[in-house]
Amino acid sequence: MNVETLSVLLRPRSLKDRIADAAVLILDVDGTLAETEGIHRRAFNAAFIEAGFDWYWDQRTYKKLLRTTGGKERIQAFGRTRYPGICLSDSEVAKLHRTKTRHYGRLIAQHTCRLRPGVAALIRNSRARGQTLAIATTTTYSNIDELLSVALEANWCDLFATVVAGDDVARKKPAPDVYLEVLARLGYGASECLAIEDSANGLKAASSAGIPVLISRSEYFRDDDFSGALAVVDDLTELG
Ligand SMILES: [Mg+2]
Repeated sequence: MNVETLSVLLRPRSLKDRIADAAVLILDVDGTLAETEGIHRRAFNAAFIEAGFDWYWDQRTYKKLLRTTGGKERIQAFGRTRYPGICLSDSEVAKLHRTKTRHYGRLIAQHTCRLRPGVAALIRNSRARGQTLAIATTTTYSNIDELLSVALEANWCDLFATVVAGDDVARKKPAPDVYLEVLARLGYGASECLAIEDSANGLKAASSAGIPVLISRSEYFRDDDFSGALAVVDDLTELG
């Protein structure tokens, strides 16, 4: 059975019930809560200029690079492929990534990146229902803070029972580590939770932890293979 068939079988009303019935909603950040990938790309390019690199990631290149999760890992992957003779040390990569993170914060503050449709209502309504909310992402805590303190609210952290970021675990998505860490911290079983993701890597990570996944298609990953997802929607409007 393919994903489209599943989407048809799981009609909007039952999908809304399915979301409301979960004890815990575990949210991905980039692409799921907000379309941040374009801003990440611009921040990487700004960091390359500042560091004196002649690297430039256009949209097409970045889309391919997103198959590698984690900013530092993405820098290494690009360097290895494009410039095989050059090997950046871990400290060089870390420095470049810190510069990128600074530019990301600046760009987020300038552009006031908004939450995707339906996200604010979902968070508000799930809190009113007494559901537990958590974040499972491969991005850094500082990137989440930059985004959500602007797009959601200054005390965004109070809305979530736990936040597991990329640097909290050994392996980033598609490994299940961030999701397993959320389950361990909260003490819930995988089947009591529902993950909301936008990419095949995210789907794989949550599924490997045994957690059902709702996909909210995003700009950069809309053509991914979402086989195995509970449902696939274009956004979260009217699902909260
Ligand atoms: Mg994502």
